[in-house]
Amino acid sequence: MQEFPVTRATTLKPKPDPKTLVFGRSFTDHMLLMDYAEGKGWHNGRIVPYGPLALDPSAMVLHYAQEVFEGMKAYRTPDGGVQLFRPYENARRFQNSCERLCIPTMDEELFVAAVKQLVALEKDWVPSEPGTSLYIRPFVFATDPTLGVHASKTYLFAVIVCPVGAYYAEGINPVKIYVEDEDVRAVRGGTGYTKCGGNYAASIRAGERAEEKGFSQVLWLDGVERKYIEEVGSMNVMFQIDGTVVTPKLTGSVLPGVTRKSCIDLVKSWGIPVEERLLTAQELFDAAESGRLDEAWGTGTAAVVSPIGWMSWEGRDVTVCGGKIGALTQKLYDTLTGIQWGLLPDEHGWTVKVC
Ligand SMILES: *Cc1c(COP(=O)(O)O)cnc(C)c1O
Repeated sequence: MQEFPVTRATTLKPKPDPKTLVFGRSFTDHMLLMDYAEGKGWHNGRIVPYGPLALDPSAMVLHYAQEVFEGMKAYRTPDGGVQLFRPYENARRFQNSCERLCIPTMDEELFVAAVKQLVALEKDWVPSEPGTSLYIRPFVFATDPTLGVHASKTYLFAVIVCPVGAYYAEGINPVKIYVEDEDVRAVRGGTGYTKCGGNYAASIRAGERAEEKGFSQVLWLDGVERKYIEEVGSMNVMFQIDGTVVTPKLTGSVLPGVTRKSCIDLVKSWGIPVEERLLTAQELFDAAESGRLDEAWGTGTAAVVSPIGWMSWEGRDVTVCGGKIGALTQKLYDTLTGIQWGLLPDEHGWTVKVC
């Protein structure tokens, strides 16, 4: 495996109190950087003290948003070790995102080696309180200093990591969501299936409006017919209708979540039928109003699962599972977190040891 040279920070930061951590605010002592230039490929991988980057004001990413990222976590196991969850899934998705944005792809092994070496160096930053982890943010962006619209010829890849507190410090509380019928997050043929910053830029307004109206998130509809359910906030979404788990299929405008994939595998292994298909808001609300919607939840690395307790669409307001977390949602949460933190046997071979 590739070894990157390390320039150590001369002073180390105090570790924050894991009980008061705010997501994505306190970063560790080091970061990993790697350059790309046409003809040279990926080169000059290095770990250096965490700090600001110098960018030309004309750097292409600042104007045309040629950028993609990943989100994953490192978990402290009961034996004091540190492990990752399905990092090759993130590596492959990173490649797919890069390909769509005309960013040169990176070998999966190089991506995983970069993540592993930085996490191993920062292992003391992986908290051990229940539910806490080290969040990992790999990203890549265009650095050509020019305003000409084309694919950049130079890029910077970086990995930064930050300890994060327990997502459910106050217990798992179901959220209230509303179906967004004005803004759309993505369209088929666009970049919906990639983890690019531009998708987030386009989705912020709906999220802000949802909060103003007293909801925690929006349920996104497809961008063409505005009929089909796609995602919830920045999570994938699943429903249990008449016993069957239904989740929007990957049409190109839905992000292929690692948690989504893992939930599908687990649910199937428990003998519960799963359908990846188109699901209209009409069908969903009809099912809810006639008592056939058993449970609803979002899936993503940050929260693992997030139960949906209330939904609103065109004046139709429904309560799901009595506003409580459902049995299947709870079982998915317990099983996934059990595997991630090494508290349950990893029967699927999903974890990768760092140290
Ligand atoms: C990252 C992300 C998800 C969840 O993916 P995971 O791999 O499960 O973390 C879902 N939807 C969007 C839009 C995302 O960016």
